[in-house]
Amino acid sequence: MERLSLLSEDQVRAVQHQFGTPTFVYSQKALESQAQKALAFPHVHGLTVRYAVKACPAAGVIRILNRAGLHIDASSGYEALRAMRAGVPSAQIQLTAQQLPDNLADLVRQGVLFNACSLHQLAAYGQLFPGREVSIRVNPGLGSGHSNRTNTGGPSSSFGIWHEHLDQVLATVDEHNLQLTGLHSHIGSGSDPAVWQHCARLTLGVAAKLPEVRRVSMGGGFKIGRMADEVSTDLHKAGQPVADEFNRFAQEHGRKLHLEIEPGTFLVGNAGAIVCSVVDMVNTGPQGYCFIKVNSGMTEVLRPSLYGAQHPIVVVPAPPEERGQGAYLIAGHCCESGDILTPAANNPEELAPRVLTEPRIGDAVFIGGCGAYCAGMAAKNYNSFPEACEVLLGTDGELHLLRQRQTLDQILANESLPAFLST
Ligand SMILES: *Cc1c(COP(=O)(O)O)cnc(C)c1O
Repeated sequence: MERLSLLSEDQVRAVQHQFGTPTFVYSQKALESQAQKALAFPHVHGLTVRYAVKACPAAGVIRILNRAGLHIDASSGYEALRAMRAGVPSAQIQLTAQQLPDNLADLVRQGVLFNACSLHQLAAYGQLFPGREVSIRVNPGLGSGHSNRTNTGGPSSSFGIWHEHLDQVLATVDEHNLQLTGLHSHIGSGSDPAVWQHCARLTLGVAAKLPEVRRVSMGGGFKIGRMADEVSTDLHKAGQPVADEFNRFAQEHGRKLHLEIEPGTFLVGNAGAIVCSVVDMVNTGPQGYCFIKVNSGMTEVLRPSLYGAQHPIVVVPAPPEERGQGAYLIAGHCCESGDILTPAANNPEELAPRVLTEPRIGDAVFIGGCGAYCAGMAAKNYNSFPEACEVLLGTDGELHLLRQRQTLDQILANESLPAFLST
């Protein structure tokens, strides 16, 4: 059976009573401790850590990580604005986006750094801001996500400028008199130090051809273990070969490159959890399964149905009492057969019952590892369920509201009826 992390049983029940369910809970202590680990990433000529804000864009989380010394990686113009509204100075935000924002000129005038992710983006920026500094995202020709859906490098990925197109980059840079001072590659390198070293080598090979480059980002993608038997990336081990490569580059080329990394998952993944409640139990006969239905699911966490991701799940009885155990599947509350929180590992098509405390309707259920790509990436408002509440467990031991549960009025706020339908 999985154990509780982040919260005690009493805290899980306190969340359920004070805020209702489903509610996301983030731990300030865990966020700050992950930020310290990231800031200790091995480096030789300086380090900037950017929080990839798409992982969990709540203002409270952004502010905690920014105060801890982290800058911001924004994946859209909206994310850049959101980080600014959360109080991040614009000069600490870098935009690395698939879609060029309509307000690019405005953002850059306010001080946001721009990282061009395609030749088109580079030319558009050059037209707006000739003579300025710019950075480019390259696809170094290597990918390393845990599945095709999270792979962000190699020939089957659309992210960044293909490494063989540097001639076109240099022509555009020349045409607009740009200063190409930043180089970026985010391939989702995972945990393996050998992959980080290989990626650093490929990226620095590109930097060698771009004489003005002073800062190089290796992106994010540091894996974390959510389940008890999974391990998290040791940043010291992953980063040492990267630091060695930067050192070697300085010796060979006489340029001391500033390192950047951009973790998302690593910073917030295990710093957040969902507290939900058992709303029903059904079984499908002796040859079937026992299902626990909870008042959460794809509306808060898509990862199990999307990738077969495993999250630790603990039934927290109320009131505490002796209970037996059993093997259960957990179904979410959406009218969608894929809304299952207990798929087989990496296979959303298959079911894998878990050993859990025997549940009763009304019990709290803790779902761990929900800090990254959950609140920000779920099937919001599907079945017209409101966006969940988000709270922070502060280092003061108190629970603080970060976002209220949405109301039906808020879900409907932007709807209108044409006159011919309104009577
Ligand atoms: C999403 C993203 C990251 C963070 O990835 P994680 O896997 O959450 O660490 C970093 N950089 C860029 C450009 C991204 O798009």
